[in-house]
Amino acid sequence: MDAKNYKTGTKCVQAGYSPKTGEPRVLPIIQSTTFKYATSEDMGKLFDLQESGYFYTRLANPTSDCAAAKLCALEGGSAALLLSSGQAANFFAVFNLASAGDHVVASAEIYGGTFNLFSVTMKRMGIDFTFVSPDSTREELQAAIRPNTKAIFGETIANPALSVLDIELFADVAHENGIPLIVDNTFATPINCRPIEWGADIVTHSTTKYLDGHATSVGGAIVDGGKFDWFKYADKFPGLTTPDESYHGIVYAEQFGLGGAFVNKCVAQLMRDFGSTPSPFNSFLLNLGMETLHVRMPKHCENAQKAAEFLKAHEKVAWVQYCGLPGDKYHELGKKYLPNGSCGVLSFGVKGGRKAAETFMKHLKLAAIVTHVADARTCILHPASSTHRQMTDEQLIAGGVAPDMMRLSVGIEDAEDIIADLDEALKSI
Ligand SMILES: *Cc1c(COP(=O)(O)O)cnc(C)c1O
Repeated sequence: MDAKNYKTGTKCVQAGYSPKTGEPRVLPIIQSTTFKYATSEDMGKLFDLQESGYFYTRLANPTSDCAAAKLCALEGGSAALLLSSGQAANFFAVFNLASAGDHVVASAEIYGGTFNLFSVTMKRMGIDFTFVSPDSTREELQAAIRPNTKAIFGETIANPALSVLDIELFADVAHENGIPLIVDNTFATPINCRPIEWGADIVTHSTTKYLDGHATSVGGAIVDGGKFDWFKYADKFPGLTTPDESYHGIVYAEQFGLGGAFVNKCVAQLMRDFGSTPSPFNSFLLNLGMETLHVRMPKHCENAQKAAEFLKAHEKVAWVQYCGLPGDKYHELGKKYLPNGSCGVLSFGVKGGRKAAETFMKHLKLAAIVTHVADARTCILHPASSTHRQMTDEQLIAGGVAPDMMRLSVGIEDAEDIIADLDEALKSI
């Protein structure tokens, strides 16, 4: 059987690395910055991008490439790249298409770090962003597009808003305007949603979350679907369709085809100049994490569903947001895009507001108070008493963060223990 046709779970375990006779069965950590060649000519061919191979780990490393190939297979992409963080991944994905004077449309409900990257730092680079509701209609989305718009950006399941993106609609509007859709698929993972199958062109990840899954390594990834026709819209994307004078006049879409152009340009220009390279050791850990992704994600979803149902039925709980709950604002979109479950993250509020939430947090034993989400251990954050503690209730509400809001990232422990912990803490209110 052709490995390309393996099902998702088999890809999690096996894709990306196939040792030849006598080679290590487990993906080796190639902890070497540099690679040796017999002649200068041999090495020159690599620099000219005429042959593929390794010469310096800032640009490529075998361990990282194998882990990237596994994620590429899982997302159904044509090429993939690992980076040192999710922040680097989203920066590279957008900056690979947009330059000073260009414009990008992004969902307003995205990770806070990404929102700041776009609205402050990339704006300083001369790129303009328009933020739209993830619930935008076709007409509202279309109204945000300008002649210089180079991409649309959204998150499959927004962190922390937990809204579900209508990927088909966003892809449709993008394609009608001759631009690609970039989707950050961090929370859903390719186990629960593969945005490329719904029309997305580029997929990004903070691999720090479920893909690693054990909170050991910060990392990011970009996967190209390989279907966007850069030549058809060559005037919008000269960086992919005209010679790159900083790289021997290479035309990326010609040299690497539609499937390889985006990622190779990302490496040759942005990785070369910004150097947001993952360490081979982190790529090894990421690969190990992905080997069990298909086993962990259903457990996260099962436990989160049970926790959401328990909280929803509890008299001291004011509200619960989780698209797995019937009646949730995103339940229908969840059924369409996330039929096997969404993720382990849910948010809820307790009656009695900020004070009651503070009391609740003090009485948790199993759930750890951390700013991280989406790993094996159950964890929780109450923004109003931690990350946002300097803000008044009024300021919090204006910023879209309810004073009683707690973000619970349900782990893969036994659901009974997680629920008993929540139950005990609720009793303290
Ligand atoms: C965490 C996160 C990021 C940022 O990733 P880092 O690995 O922390 O740099 C980006 N997008 C989403 C959806 C995230 O959850």
